[in-house]
Amino acid sequence: MLLPTLADRPDRVALRFESGELTYADLAAAAVGTATAIAGAKRVAVWATPTAHTCVAVVGALAAGVPVVPINPKTGERELAHIVADSSPDLVLAEAGVELPPALAALPRVVAGPGGGSVPPEPDPESAAVIVYTSGTTGPPKGVLLPRRAIATNLDALAVAWDWTAADTVVHALPLFHVHGLVLGVLGPLRRGGTVWHLGRFDPSALAAALSGGATVMFGVPTMYHRLAADCETDPAVARGVARARLLVSGSAGLPAVDHARITAATGQRVVERYGMTETLMNCAIRSADPRPGSVGPAVDGVEVRLVDEAGAPVADGEIGEIEVRGPNLFLGYLNRPGATADAFRDDWFRTGDVATREPDGHVRILGRRATDLIKSGGYKIGAGEIENALLEHPDVIEAAVTGEPDDDLGERIVAWVVTGPRRPSEQTLSDHVARLLSPHKRPRVVRYLDALPRNELGKVTKRALG
Ligand code: ATP
Ligand code: MG
Repeated sequence: MLLPTLADRPDRVALRFESGELTYADLAAAAVGTATAIAGAKRVAVWATPTAHTCVAVVGALAAGVPVVPINPKTGERELAHIVADSSPDLVLAEAGVELPPALAALPRVVAGPGGGSVPPEPDPESAAVIVYTSGTTGPPKGVLLPRRAIATNLDALAVAWDWTAADTVVHALPLFHVHGLVLGVLGPLRRGGTVWHLGRFDPSALAAALSGGATVMFGVPTMYHRLAADCETDPAVARGVARARLLVSGSAGLPAVDHARITAATGQRVVERYGMTETLMNCAIRSADPRPGSVGPAVDGVEVRLVDEAGAPVADGEIGEIEVRGPNLFLGYLNRPGATADAFRDDWFRTGDVATREPDGHVRILGRRATDLIKSGGYKIGAGEIENALLEHPDVIEAAVTGEPDDDLGERIVAWVVTGPRRPSEQTLSDHVARLLSPHKRPRVVRYLDALPRNELGKVTKRALG
């Protein structure tokens, strides 16, 4: 059963939003009402605003066994048309009074909430529970069919890694149309029988107040921890709140070493990272008892992670390889893309496209994406992330991204894209800084100055927009 807790703990608070609280009894009644209203649908869309309605709609669709497609309300017209055509929902779940764009307004509309009906039978664990579109960092978003089995087993593996129980209240401000916010941030606490505390939007003071007011765990993306680090340094109330958390978890992209260090210095906390994808949910996670900055941890229980070279042969510890994953956490396939699904596998191993090294005790260090973050320059394989971290250690660098560009001599040359403070270090200064901290062959050959890095909804740098 995906959410046995719905029946088990009626009085406990399940969801807490600015608009109010829902107990497990409220949520169970709303799930039955919603499931009854959408019964018989083949697929439904949810207008995924950061609200209790979105959570109720998703839990209702899960109860009905109807695959649900969460839609980012900020999706542009063209991308929305693609997602609606690709996923062909029968109807859209949206809160009353919200205006929908034409592509969705044309569909029958249902407001999720309590109503008549009885609890439907538990659907097949292999059936698709949600269809989540990837972040679109490397190309147009692909619809990922996630089975109930993957969600249930992965959430249980994370519970082991993080000692995550019904006593935990998870506070966050993540969007509810990606795996991070929806699966980890909503279904995670609900599967445990704990509480989701959603802030609506990210605000360090509100977050610190929540952590002082009963929330035990924070989930966030690196851009949030970056802002939090700055506020912890200037506002003692924020630092005190953050210091009270049982666990701070970061994911969706790598957390720069400087931000790890700043948060630890200001609060005594050590942020734990986990590594996952829409297609695989979480593959690796730092255990709450064993934080180690720079690592995303060993594989979670039940998941096999291996690192291979281009021919598919496993590489030795410490060598760079592509991460391949096998286990009950894997998706069923990309919606309407049998070719892309087949290409994503080597036998029964899912090819993540991410490159990493592994330590003898199983800890994985992510270098980035094979396609954009592994630079082959002068006969060396160089990870962009390491250079980005080094650039961020320069006091005048605020943001940094590193890419490779074709070069006649080197194969590829290292290009640094930086956002600086009011003092702008010269190209030579930054290049020397990296060469001194790392090694001369990792020196950026070109530095480009920007006002801001292009980022998507989760704050991930969209490197395809650079250049
Ligand atoms: P698309 O597949 O559409 O290009 P995307 O890969 O960004 O977008 P997601 O599935 O949301 O979409 O993100 C998964 C990717 O995020 C991983 O493949 C990895 O590159 C990155 N990632 C996730 N967690 C971490 C982490 N802790 N450290 C470094 N990278 C991470
Ligand atoms: Mg991807």
